[in-house]
Amino acid sequence: MIAEIIAAGSEMLTPHRQDTNSLFLTAELNDLGVEVAFKTIVGDDLKHLTEVARAAFSRADLILFSGGLGPTEDDRTREAVAAALGISLRRDPEILATLHKRFAARQMTMPPNNAKQADVLEGAAILANTTGSAPGQMLDTVVGEYRKIIVLLPGPPRELKPLFTDVVKPMLASILPQHKLARRMLRMALVPESQVDARTSPIYNQYSDVETTILAGHGEIQLHFTAVKPTLEEAQNRVDELASRVEAEMDDAIFSSQGESLEEVVLMMMEMRHLTLSVAESCTGGLLAQRLTAVPNSSRAFVGGAVVYTPEMKMLFADVPREMVELHGAVSPEVARALAEGIRARTGSSLGISITGLAGPGTAPGKDAERPIGRVYIGLADGRDTYIKELTLSGDREHIRWWSSQHALEFLRQTLHR
Ligand code: ATP
Ligand code: MG
Repeated sequence: MIAEIIAAGSEMLTPHRQDTNSLFLTAELNDLGVEVAFKTIVGDDLKHLTEVARAAFSRADLILFSGGLGPTEDDRTREAVAAALGISLRRDPEILATLHKRFAARQMTMPPNNAKQADVLEGAAILANTTGSAPGQMLDTVVGEYRKIIVLLPGPPRELKPLFTDVVKPMLASILPQHKLARRMLRMALVPESQVDARTSPIYNQYSDVETTILAGHGEIQLHFTAVKPTLEEAQNRVDELASRVEAEMDDAIFSSQGESLEEVVLMMMEMRHLTLSVAESCTGGLLAQRLTAVPNSSRAFVGGAVVYTPEMKMLFADVPREMVELHGAVSPEVARALAEGIRARTGSSLGISITGLAGPGTAPGKDAERPIGRVYIGLADGRDTYIKELTLSGDREHIRWWSSQHALEFLRQTLHR
């Protein structure tokens, strides 16, 4: 079953509006065990819309249109679909009467252009729209020798959503073969994507009935597994089996197999061990604390810390001697160590983490001028030992700051894992 969603509307080809209907529809179709193969956004141009419709009817079995069912000149979905199928539109007297009534209820006479909302594709079922004026339509037809299910939905999300959920979804559920879709996601931090693929592809390639997608970004790799089976149990078993084999291969590189974020995982690990954490952040300016405190109840493990941007603040909040900064530079393993130990001692937490680095652009003053942009030191003090990690990151300021916080979280996780 190949499904396509077509969002009609020129506004979505500008930087100002996004097509969100297709996200909703994709989730709903997935729920019916249908995956979406194509999504198209097309402007309100009859020729373009007709071309897109024709292409969709040639390559997809289930085609959902969103938008362009209103009364205005730019609402052309009905005409385009009729033209692409080579069928005619008939003006439905009942819809027309309902439209007249809607206007009459507001003491208005209906402008003539509204009548086109009563145009129905020959053979289509009319889907009553309880939140707006233009009804949806569903056409179960044959193109060439193939069955095509074509659904027309209004554009405004507050009309499209209830119409789909209450009317279209049950209809599709009764037409479509009974299939259920299960998903699973494994998350890893800071492992190169090529390495993940090289190690996992020999496994996932054995599962031709499970779709595997690798997504990378923000210092994280996600492996997504999707299976469609007659029952949810079968689909779930299949993705779970593949996930556990991949987990065994990637071992402790995987920080999450049930969707949790890296922040949630480290907080959970600390809470389970009754450990607390404080931070002393320089180049990240509180980003690590921000990420940790974004998790509800993070105070069970995270106590707080300080943004120690200047040498004075490093001295004031973490007892880093001024001479140490002058001698080694603020971005140095020595200062990272002193910061981690200092903040830990000051706050009385079990663990202290520090981040000091050069996020750029431009060179730093004093001793730090000798170090490259992207050099970052992370310190982790646990009261017995203090571990230091040296990084050389690339990218712009935001990138370096984010990756520094990501490395700090992963460093903490790996340390807790041992
Ligand atoms: P109307 O009767 O309101 O004109 P319509 O079916 O003709 O309904 P459009 O004119 O295409 O729908 O869109 C109406 C409004 O709905 C748009 O201005 C936009 O705000 C919203 N909309 C349309 N398509 C989408 C979409 N794909 N995602 C999110 N919002 C959308
Ligand atoms: Mg419109």
